[in-house]
Amino acid sequence: MNFRKDYSLLIILFVLVMIYTAVFGNRIVIVLFVMGLLGVTLYIYANVRKTISSEKEQSVNTLLTQLDKTQKESEDTYKRFLSLSKTLGSGLLMINDEGIVSFSNKDFENYFGINLNRLDYNDLNVVPPLFKFVNEAYLLEEHIRRQITYDNKYYDLISTPLFEGDMYAGTLILAHDITQLKTAEKFQKRFTADVSHELRTPLSAIKGFSEIMLRDEKMAQKDKLEFLGLINKESERMEVILNDLMVISKLDRLDYELTLVPQDIKGVILESVSLLQGKLKEKNLTQEIDVESCVFPFDKVKLSQVILNIIKNGINYTDEGFVNVEGFVEDDNYVIKISDSGIGIKKANFDKIFKRFYRVDRARSRDTGGSGLGLSISKNVIHKHGGTIDVHSVLNEGTIFTISIPLKE
Ligand code: ADP
Repeated sequence: MNFRKDYSLLIILFVLVMIYTAVFGNRIVIVLFVMGLLGVTLYIYANVRKTISSEKEQSVNTLLTQLDKTQKESEDTYKRFLSLSKTLGSGLLMINDEGIVSFSNKDFENYFGINLNRLDYNDLNVVPPLFKFVNEAYLLEEHIRRQITYDNKYYDLISTPLFEGDMYAGTLILAHDITQLKTAEKFQKRFTADVSHELRTPLSAIKGFSEIMLRDEKMAQKDKLEFLGLINKESERMEVILNDLMVISKLDRLDYELTLVPQDIKGVILESVSLLQGKLKEKNLTQEIDVESCVFPFDKVKLSQVILNIIKNGINYTDEGFVNVEGFVEDDNYVIKISDSGIGIKKANFDKIFKRFYRVDRARSRDTGGSGLGLSISKNVIHKHGGTIDVHSVLNEGTIFTISIPLKE
């Protein structure tokens, strides 16, 4: 609405009244004029009010729409933040400037087993290592990173101070469960220590024998040959360990895949058996073979290694009697049983023998040239085929290893 027109009309009327009053001075006309003037003023006033209120209404509506939009946007952002915090796979905790938990996700609560909703951060002292960290992060208003342990688990905590302009607005804490990583790290450390230890033994022997030979220039030929034989045996041992370590490092790779080819298992078992005939005869052991034909997909190279290792163990740990091999289909699996009448294994060691470098009798295993890695490799290969490997044994009576592989993956 254009008020200028109304105001001009008002001014014109006023000027007319003034002129008429000055020229004629007729009271009745003056009163009429004044009334007319009043009417016009009231009309204009009403019009102005109407316009102002409608404009006000319009701007209030615009404001409300904008507010609605902003609210919706912030609700959307919050929803997105919530779903992100749920799928983050890490714990999230927000403490406001008054030290109150303003947000926490389920992961955080599950890690530390506490309901954090609107909790004063001082109440986190039920989890001392977490409280120590939060307290420091909140009071120092600094970015801190630290690893803590709680309830046999490891957590990596990171704090980030929050600011609104220049004002401190609290702190954001991220918690990652790094237990798996820590376990792998520990395992890796132990494995490296074991490898060094295993290699050091034959290496020291080689070093010792060669030093004696170097010192004793007049060593008898017979002794020289004996020492050289020992050096040769120890270097072969090192070679076996290194080869097995190569196999293990390959199997441990996440992207490692078996070469599964459908073929008859019978040929593969018989091949392994025949490779060990010499060793079997050397120890005067007998052998019964009863192997069924069956075609199914498996990795020939890897499975041969497993069968060879277990039959070889049977021969190594049996002084008299037999090492028999059976192969048959049972339900949807192919089962391979390798049984011997050897020294046997205590029940307490059934699980341990599948661990890397574990040997029941170190001296005997050393004599047979074993690396202590054979069964752990075998277990890994069979598991990769989706199968199982079990041991049943009676001390001083004998041992049966049973491998079961599904015919279809
Ligand atoms: P190794 O190279 O020492 O034979 P393995 O991993 O193949 O390593 O076997 C681990 C341990 O399990 C052996 O050192 C031995 O103590 C025990 N073991 C394996 N097979 C037999 C068996 N047939 N009879 C008795 N003990 C066995």
